[in-house]
Amino acid sequence: MTNCRACGSQNTALWFVVEGCRVRRCAECTHVYLDAEHDASSIRAIYSGYGNGGQSQYFAGIDSQVEANLDRYLRQCRDALPGNRTELRLLDIGCGNGALLKQAQRLGFHASGIEISASLAAVARNRTQCEVHEGFLCELGLPESSFDVVTMYDLIEHAANPRQDLEHAFRILRPGGVLFALTPNDRALLRRISRALFTASLHSFSEPMRRLYYPDHLSYFTAQSLSQLLASTGFELISLQSVNQELSRVQLSAVERLTARAAFWASRPFSKLGGKLVAYARRP
Ligand SMILES: [Zn+2]
Repeated sequence: MTNCRACGSQNTALWFVVEGCRVRRCAECTHVYLDAEHDASSIRAIYSGYGNGGQSQYFAGIDSQVEANLDRYLRQCRDALPGNRTELRLLDIGCGNGALLKQAQRLGFHASGIEISASLAAVARNRTQCEVHEGFLCELGLPESSFDVVTMYDLIEHAANPRQDLEHAFRILRPGGVLFALTPNDRALLRRISRALFTASLHSFSEPMRRLYYPDHLSYFTAQSLSQLLASTGFELISLQSVNQELSRVQLSAVERLTARAAFWASRPFSKLGGKLVAYARRP
């Protein structure tokens, strides 16, 4: 049994099993996570194939809507910084094809990235000319207090040890520096509906669940588990919201897209039911 990935507690219980993925829930911090042991080599194995489909495949989903969201997130990071710095250094952990790095450059950041997939790292370098380190944050020995902004865009749910990654992010941020993290929200309306249908059908209606809980995502944060983890790694929370954002990066059938849009529309009056959690936190 894997202890809670967020708070380390053993006070957890098996919640459900989808296609062999054992999903547990923590009674202490409400975190939801896969019961799967991983180390650096098994994580590397998962991502070694990312980006092998070539550059075009990984640019297909980057449209003006994605760019507009990235622009908004990065401006908020900049606005939350102390106002006396001229050159702002940003590190994007899990930079993928470099979409966030590109947007950061447009806003004047001195941007660099980390990526464990060698092919995606090459794509990001070609696209942005930014320095892109290959490997895990904890292996790279980046100097303490060297970045103004650290970003984790759709990243922390992939981490075997999110606590360790946040501790490293804290260390490399300057005092006053800002962490931005975006990750799926396990309290999203779409997930609640999918779980209810899965339970009511005695687990026979499992297709939506297979799309929402799968081996690459080791954590499914709630607002509580994310804010507690950030606080316990030393961060001071600036804001934590749930949002519904673009679907263009996800391969969906017409029916799935329509269902997701309907869930987004229905969740609009409720501030906590959006599909993603967006957190800004500061190293005090
Ligand atoms: Zn926990």
